[in-house]
Amino acid sequence: MKKDILSMDLPELTEEIKALGQPAYRAGQIYKWLHQAGENSFDGMTNLPKALREQLHDNFVIFGCSIEKKLISEYDETVKYLFRLHDGECVETVLMKYKYGYSVCVSSQVGCRMGCKFCASTLNGVVRNLAASEILSQVYTVQRDNGVRVSHIVMMGMGEPFDNFDNAMRFLRLVTDENGLNLSMRHISLSTCGIVPGIYRLAEENLQLTLSVSLHAPNNALRSSMMPVNKKWPVETLIKACKDYTSATSRRISFEYALVSGVNDTPACARELAALLKGMLCHINLIPVNEVAETGMKKSTTDSVRRFEALLAERGFAVTVRRTLGSDINAACGQLRRSSMK
Ligand code: SAH
Repeated sequence: MKKDILSMDLPELTEEIKALGQPAYRAGQIYKWLHQAGENSFDGMTNLPKALREQLHDNFVIFGCSIEKKLISEYDETVKYLFRLHDGECVETVLMKYKYGYSVCVSSQVGCRMGCKFCASTLNGVVRNLAASEILSQVYTVQRDNGVRVSHIVMMGMGEPFDNFDNAMRFLRLVTDENGLNLSMRHISLSTCGIVPGIYRLAEENLQLTLSVSLHAPNNALRSSMMPVNKKWPVETLIKACKDYTSATSRRISFEYALVSGVNDTPACARELAALLKGMLCHINLIPVNEVAETGMKKSTTDSVRRFEALLAERGFAVTVRRTLGSDINAACGQLRRSSMK
């Protein structure tokens, strides 16, 4: 079996290249081609001798993404991709343009097994984890296709990063490597549905990234009805883990709260949420839920969103309402892949 070269860090690649009887400095050249130039074929690595390129062919594979579908928003230049992977499976990736630069939303799994009731990615369960290379290659392919350099990454696409923990960490190390894309860890957000052991493992890594926690409800009855993961790690356990995370890393947590009309968007919910998060170093991001036909959930009215936001702001919380980008191109989680499966 050919080895996944794009998932290797420079020391690992160096060992592999030495094992082929090649000088170690070749590994540095190959690594730059892969991670700085975004080269996706060995033949394109023009400063390598032909014999070495052939050895690379025989021993390694570069896991890339091919563009299966591409949608460009007419409103805000958001570009949404359906990428096909080497085994034919598909994942979604989104490029968003902000004042501060380009941000890419990457997927970490094909499908998802978390079962959140409002989410399209999970409707058919999980198919498989992505390798670190397959997460990276989403970023590289988006850069190449748009001729841009990405400055921010959010791990908020399809899948649960903590259900694919090791590959997610490897991806983070590679994408922030100074010999590669060299992104700042501070420009990366990772979102979890609330897998508590993952929060503790991430705290041990002590990274400067932003941890986003998909909370979506202020109490167990409501949260369990929206997110099955809450039955395993209930609200009090999750909030304790978040507090421990902040103590360990001094990093502010960002709570995601998707507002569903008549479900979790009442003033009583806002007050209960404020009581739950009282005193925490956190940010609350409100998201009018993206409507997915199969879920039957309706998004909150603009008035309910404003009222919810005001109730939190009055209580001293840093709260924002997420700008919905790409609303004309189904940029909501999992909907593009589903439409292509039907
Ligand atoms: N599995 C991780 C990351 C992927 S989902 C997590 O759950 O956090 C990224 C974010 O989109 C999460 O906050 C998720 O709850 C939210 N989300 C999923 N479906 C949504 C929808 N239909 N509308 C709004 N937000 C949604």
